[in-house]
Amino acid sequence: MTRPAPGAGRFAPSPSADLHIGNLRTAVLAWLFARSSGRRFLLRIEDLDDRAHDDVARRQLADLAAIGITWDDEPQWQSHHRDCYDTVVHALSARGLVYECYCSRKDILSAPRAPHAPEGAYPGTCRELTEPERTARRESGRPPALRLRADVSEFTVTDLVHGSYTGVVDDFVLRRGDGVPAYNLAVVVDDAVSGVDQVVRGDDLLSSSPRQAYLGALLDYPPPVYAHVPLVLNPEGKRLAKRDGAVTLAELGALRAFSVLSDSLGWPSANITELLGQFDPTRLPRAPWTYQPV
Ligand code: GLU
Ligand code: ZN
Repeated sequence: MTRPAPGAGRFAPSPSADLHIGNLRTAVLAWLFARSSGRRFLLRIEDLDDRAHDDVARRQLADLAAIGITWDDEPQWQSHHRDCYDTVVHALSARGLVYECYCSRKDILSAPRAPHAPEGAYPGTCRELTEPERTARRESGRPPALRLRADVSEFTVTDLVHGSYTGVVDDFVLRRGDGVPAYNLAVVVDDAVSGVDQVVRGDDLLSSSPRQAYLGALLDYPPPVYAHVPLVLNPEGKRLAKRDGAVTLAELGALRAFSVLSDSLGWPSANITELLGQFDPTRLPRAPWTYQPV
């Protein structure tokens, strides 16, 4: 009898800047959730926007290794998967689930919307255009984005931190006007293709998860379980950023960084193996952690 392959968790940084202590804390939590549940752990560089930043990505991988994170398989680079995203967009398109959108950001903000339409949701301006209207729009402007024709307005995901979470699904972008696959598409395709069934990341992405889970359901992908973990704040209560100082491994050193972040979780440990021994997902701090630069 063959045993089913274990599922996988992952960490998926964008290579826009060196990882700071907040990013590292999320990475450690993703690793802990995966390893404590017998899962494999994968890394993915989300470089669709930042393809020039290979050096940053390499430093991110080195920093993750320096705090003891281990991973299975070679790290994946999203910029190598363009064909895969295109194939999925074509398949959705063949099902009538994709349409061109000619709106600028400004058009979207100023478009009339229904009284109870959720904040930030696409108002559907280009959804029902006739073919002659599309031709006219196509000739007059820049290349269109491609949007998903969603037939729901909300969707529910299961989150290990937030419980059952229901959030907005709109006709979100699958491919940008400049041809770059959208984050919401790439993340769903990559997670499914690589067998990820546990998505642990910062809770700034919680509100994106219903869109992603809905797209996954349309594509018949098995739904992952989510854990959106609290962000790290600076002493002013804003999201921690590199400019806050003393936040990167280059500035802190791996030992110091590890001790600060394991303290912040309430499980002081000297290394990641010791931390894994103490990790209890049900006792994870629910509030954001305020980092005091040391
Ligand atoms: N690349 C995203 C970020 O760095 C994370 C995407 C994800 O975990 O789904 O914010
Ligand atoms: Zn539009």
